[in-house]
Amino acid sequence: MKAPESLAFSGLSYYSGAVNERVIIVGGGVVGLCCAYYLSQEGREVLVLEREQEQGDNCSRENAGMIVPSHFTPLAAPGVVTQGLKWLLDAESPFYVRPRLSLDLARWGLSFISCANSRHVTASAGLLRDLQLASRELFKDLSSHFDFGLQRRGLLMLCESSDFLKEEEELAGKAQELGLRVEVCDPDRLRELDPGVEMNAQGGIWYEQDCHLNPGEFLNGLKEKLIAVGGELRYGCKVRGVGDGIVELEDGERIQGAEIIVAGGAWTSGLARSLGTWVPLQGGKGYSMTLQNPGALPQLCSLLGEAKVAITPIGDSLRVAGTMEICGEDLSINERRVQGIIKAACRVFPDLRQEEFEGIRRWSGLRPCSPDGLPYLGRVEGREKVLVASGHAMLGLSLGPITGKLVSEIVAGRSPTIPVEQLAVDRFA
Ligand SMILES: Cc1cc2nc3c(=O)[nH]c(=O)nc-3n(C[C@H](O)[C@H](O)[C@H](O)COP(=O)(O)OP(=O)(O)OC[C@H]3O[C@@H](n4cnc5c(N)ncnc54)[C@H](O)[C@@H]3O)c2cc1C
Repeated sequence: MKAPESLAFSGLSYYSGAVNERVIIVGGGVVGLCCAYYLSQEGREVLVLEREQEQGDNCSRENAGMIVPSHFTPLAAPGVVTQGLKWLLDAESPFYVRPRLSLDLARWGLSFISCANSRHVTASAGLLRDLQLASRELFKDLSSHFDFGLQRRGLLMLCESSDFLKEEEELAGKAQELGLRVEVCDPDRLRELDPGVEMNAQGGIWYEQDCHLNPGEFLNGLKEKLIAVGGELRYGCKVRGVGDGIVELEDGERIQGAEIIVAGGAWTSGLARSLGTWVPLQGGKGYSMTLQNPGALPQLCSLLGEAKVAITPIGDSLRVAGTMEICGEDLSINERRVQGIIKAACRVFPDLRQEEFEGIRRWSGLRPCSPDGLPYLGRVEGREKVLVASGHAMLGLSLGPITGKLVSEIVAGRSPTIPVEQLAVDRFA
């Protein structure tokens, strides 16, 4: 995206209006709304600018709804590149990179490969655990203010093969070292934990602290709370460029704010470019389908380890989600990959039938994926009035509240309660 000329000069000095104390948040997904919520809790006036219509496309509404302290390993990890290359040959596999002539994709790919090592995983695990557990506490607190179906029953990582179970047991050992509550389960124990449902698995890991919720209800609740305290949400309002303390909309209108929070999900790179910095992100497309009255309705959410499929009970319905396609900004549905998700779900939960998925709407969303699998959180170097909060990949719902809280602390001029140096916005610039 080309930077609007005056914004490239950090437009505030060119702006003649009165300085406004309100904070402007670009992007009304879960990260933007959580930032707005915690800023409003600090007494700040907030304005959320969202280019889509209300309930429109973003990655936050129909995701798998999981809160995942179990996910302390970033996407960039050893073995991911080799496994990814093998999956490229399988049209129903959970991972795909669409070949494109794109300098951004090439640079992103090279950075990803250089981060996919055990040193990076070890250096990130403690931080991810701290962020996840703090966010979980915030979800607990939020659920006392509004209802979004929070269920604190844990997550089952289900393994179809004994080889995969062994790998997951190793990971469970690391989780225990990090202080997480984890149990290795044989099939009998799985049945004990979720007696109402048949599971075809050699065993699994129970991550006791994981939770699940209804993401749509969570977004609705945040919006209601914001509006109740006088926050403003503008839909159909696309931001063309961001400067220091100012945004320019597509129609040319300029809005000044005491602070700008860029929370544009997979589209954040373009917005950051108008600030003169490189924040590498690729959209990681995933799909979900929601069955009403499904043939199998587990009480616990689960991940099918080999197939990377997420299964989440949401009230009386069941959400089945999966795939990671690095595909730019393309939200189209690849039915072959959808079939891969459905087959895996029906294999592990034999009471689900493939016909149940016929005619069910396929939802797609773009996860904002950074090359090292860590979010971007903090100020843009050299700018006093702009922060970025994005790049949460598969963890954006789970880390939404803590992201919002940390952003509100930085805006208030306090040191963030969890140090965020590792999440520096300019770390690849
Ligand atoms: C299938 C699937 C399952 C998932 N399951 C989980 C899960 O169980 N747990 C979990 O933690 N995460 C999960 N995720 C990931 C999670 O959904 C994302 O990390 C999260 O939604 C990202 O939130 P966000 O606010 O950063 O981005 P988004 O939700 O995409 O929001 C960004 C918003 O910014 C707006 N925007 C962009 N550019 C502009 C502009 N120029 N002007 C104005 N507005 C703009 C966009 O329209 C969009 O609404 C899943 C993702 C997928 C695809």
